[in-house]
Amino acid sequence: MYLSRNGIRFITITSIVIAGTLGGLFFWHHVPHKSPAPLINKTFIETELGTRENIIPIAVIGSGPAGLMAALYSARAQYYTVVFRGEKPGGQLMGTTDVENWPGIAKKRGPDLMQGLEEQAKGCGVICASESIAQVDFSVWPFILETKEGAKVQALSVIIATGSLPKLLNVPGEQEYWGKGVTTCAVCDAPFYKDKEVVVIGGGDSAAEEALQLSAYAKKVTLLVRGERMRASSAMQERVKSIPSINIVYHAEIVSIEGSKTVSTGTASAGTASAGAHVTGINIKKNGVPELMKTDGVFLAIGHLPNTGIFKEYIDCDTAGYIHTIGRSQATSIPGIFAAGEVADHSYMQAGVAAGDGIKAALDATRFLGEHHIEPSLIQQFKSKLYNPQSEKRLALYKVVSMEDFDKLISTSAIPVIIDFYTLFCPSCLAMLPHLESVAAEFEGAVTICKVDGTELPKIMERYEVTSVPTMLVFKENMLIGRHKGSFSRAELAEFVQQFTAGKSAA
Ligand code: NDP
Repeated sequence: MYLSRNGIRFITITSIVIAGTLGGLFFWHHVPHKSPAPLINKTFIETELGTRENIIPIAVIGSGPAGLMAALYSARAQYYTVVFRGEKPGGQLMGTTDVENWPGIAKKRGPDLMQGLEEQAKGCGVICASESIAQVDFSVWPFILETKEGAKVQALSVIIATGSLPKLLNVPGEQEYWGKGVTTCAVCDAPFYKDKEVVVIGGGDSAAEEALQLSAYAKKVTLLVRGERMRASSAMQERVKSIPSINIVYHAEIVSIEGSKTVSTGTASAGTASAGAHVTGINIKKNGVPELMKTDGVFLAIGHLPNTGIFKEYIDCDTAGYIHTIGRSQATSIPGIFAAGEVADHSYMQAGVAAGDGIKAALDATRFLGEHHIEPSLIQQFKSKLYNPQSEKRLALYKVVSMEDFDKLISTSAIPVIIDFYTLFCPSCLAMLPHLESVAAEFEGAVTICKVDGTELPKIMERYEVTSVPTMLVFKENMLIGRHKGSFSRAELAEFVQQFTAGKSAA
């Protein structure tokens, strides 16, 4: 039995769901992939909707080009729209250097483009929530979305724009040395490989892009392609082949990744190497012949998997996990749920196409709501019931500006000090800054959270062997007492900070 916040009960008996509402009872056959469409009727909307809490007429999950363009269009259509920015706000363009194929803009950095798009969407009235959706229930309407941060919202329509995640090799050493030389983000980590040797795995456009980014820093870049040719566009292949420091090795099968302090695991998923350990080489089979290649870094660029895990139970997906959309629309197998961008597209995979899909999804969603008599004017009637994540408290983060500043801070503070090392070219670092501000406000008085730009103060990074960003160091009474490498969601960050508060409650 599921008891919702306002006391409406949904009782599941094998395959029948009975929904008891204040306005009346509705029955429908409940099987996965079957829609709750019969519940969406005028009586329900007039009598029941206003009794619900945390309502969102159009909820957008994901904040890449598809999600933000969808939100921009639905907000311009006067629908209250909330974007759940997710774990990787801005999507894949946040990891792209120069974008030259965005309409009307000759050249712009990916992160700048996405920041501009988010500002544009906010200007149209879009609410951007620094939350991630952890669970959904699409068997009921309004659809239920639960955030990782603990909120439960009721969405009248949903646009899924969650994109895709990088594929992993699943070879020994990959997990052990993750963040210690193994990475998927050249734009984040390339500056740490100045005058070093690196390998890039893959033969697509992403691999070509990573190799080009790395060639600006590393003295040697080896592109390991498993087949006899690259899959990247001929223009990208030409650019890669024109750089003398990039060497392409074909017929290269990846066997394992070696490091300075290898742990005896035998599997890719078990164990992690100790702090200070780093990648030293990669075992490959070249035309079937084993070879240990020396390298300081391994950059994976072997494609992506759609981010559909939490939706698959409800929505029709293809065998690779991509959401199936109907005809030329962005509609999915459930009326009221739409999908846009790479989560539903494995053929074009371009930011411009994702943005276009987002626009179509918004037009589909607004049409869906209109057809069910849910006009913007009706939503005005239950304004106080709308979900508003903007009430979140924020504290401006103190930025450490010099070595002296840093030393003074960690030696004089009476409470633990958490330092976040970031750079302006690291997308996951930038995505985490709003979480840091919000968590700093939550724990004000119990811990001090500050940020250090690693490119401005590299000496502090060297002193504490910080080799990648984001990394967090925790100091108490001038002693280093904690360390974390990699990005956090807001919930994970709050949990990490909590352990250093020594019983003091958050402000
Ligand atoms: P792709 O699927 O295009 O390429 C993946 C590459 O990784 C292929 O060369 C593939 O080899 C290889 N690969 C896959 N699995 C393994 C493995 N286990 N071991 C070794 N190699 C492996 O993915 P991309 O991320 O490169 O590109 C996705 C889409 O995004 C494409 O449509 C691309 O055009 C687009 N894109 C465009 C960019 C641009 O315009 N600048 C930049 C980045 C991406 P094989 O060929 O043998 O299957």
